[in-house]
Amino acid sequence: MEPKYKRILLKLSGEALAGDKKFGLNYDVITDICRSIKKCADLGVQIGIVVGGGNFWRGRESGGMDRTRADHMGMLATTINALAIADVLESLGVEVRVQTAITMQQVAEPYIRNRAIRHLEKHRVVIFGCGTGNPFFSTDTAAALRAVEIEAEVFFKATMVDGVYDKDPHRYPDAVKYETLTYSEVLAKGLAVMDSTAATLCKDNGMSMLVFNMERPDNIYDAIMGQDVGTLIK
Ligand code: UDP
Repeated sequence: MEPKYKRILLKLSGEALAGDKKFGLNYDVITDICRSIKKCADLGVQIGIVVGGGNFWRGRESGGMDRTRADHMGMLATTINALAIADVLESLGVEVRVQTAITMQQVAEPYIRNRAIRHLEKHRVVIFGCGTGNPFFSTDTAAALRAVEIEAEVFFKATMVDGVYDKDPHRYPDAVKYETLTYSEVLAKGLAVMDSTAATLCKDNGMSMLVFNMERPDNIYDAIMGQDVGTLIK
């Protein structure tokens, strides 16, 4: 069977890498996720990954700290995650490059869009660290931005719920899941699936997003094969 997509941008939240402890890195969980990514890469799908940092640090939850400094710490956290995923993917035999939006050339390549595309064309997975490189943004927005820049066909947002609901399904048992949505609906209803900056960027640039559950890592593979997982936003 042929994959539905040739080039995707996958956003992994930091939390998805932490397992039950919700903090730090759980290598069993990361290995399961990376196996699913490898299955997709082996089909020839070009994969860019933006990773969050919430398993270590979120700037907006830092209390009284200077927000810009707190966000710098958050961006460094995303880089720790990027390196961890790169290491596991490499150990599975997948070619990987890490590019960071804040230069740290001893650690990773700087983010250069055209170079990222060359890597993708050579079937290397590219992991983008440091979000957008700017404070006051999220890695969802970074993922939307990179998706548009690398001309991905779709933005996969892997989360801890199996799609978008009208209210928090962890708190309300009567929450109803949407099969499809528009960005205008997401913005008008204030649905908590992503921040409005990310939604607006996708809306203005015609980038569709598939939101699905990462607790079943094979959802990445199923989504690439065009199976019905999660909620599609257009
Ligand atoms: N961050 C930032 N600019 C960006 C992306 C991320 O300053 O463009 C910082 C911000 O402090 C954020 C943290 O990095 O809280 C981790 O990212 P995020 O909260 O999006 O991670 P996730 O919740 O997806 O794990």
